[in-house]
Amino acid sequence: MKERFLRFMQGRYGVDEFSRFLIWMVIAFWLLAIVIRMGGGAENHAAAAAGTVCDYISFAAIIYSWFRMISKNIAKRQNENRVYLKYKQKISGIFKSASTDKTHKIYKCPKCGQKIRVPKHKGKIAISCPNCRTEFVKKT
Ligand SMILES: [Zn+2]
Repeated sequence: MKERFLRFMQGRYGVDEFSRFLIWMVIAFWLLAIVIRMGGGAENHAAAAAGTVCDYISFAAIIYSWFRMISKNIAKRQNENRVYLKYKQKISGIFKSASTDKTHKIYKCPKCGQKIRVPKHKGKIAISCPNCRTEFVKKT
């Protein structure tokens, strides 16, 4: 049985990062459909319709991930994966730049180690620690 499976998979694309993402989509939309239906109740037709849409997306993602796994067009699948990785990098880049603040800098109080957020480009300023009241001068 295992051998037959391996023979079947020979020359086929298999699983990559994009496939894994699709499998997460399946789970996410499957759960979303359940949540929407529970939240909407039996009488809510809009919620029922939204749940059905989620079911379809989940189902389509299953089919698509399977299709990619057993596909023999490896170049095309690799290209899809590259596109996926490019978008993933872009999106994670947006999150990263949002978390690194460009207008403020974090200083540590020399006495107690309390982290203090200070606006940048203000020249030399005296910072007083909100925790222990120590004053120290820093160039921002
Ligand atoms: Zn302090």
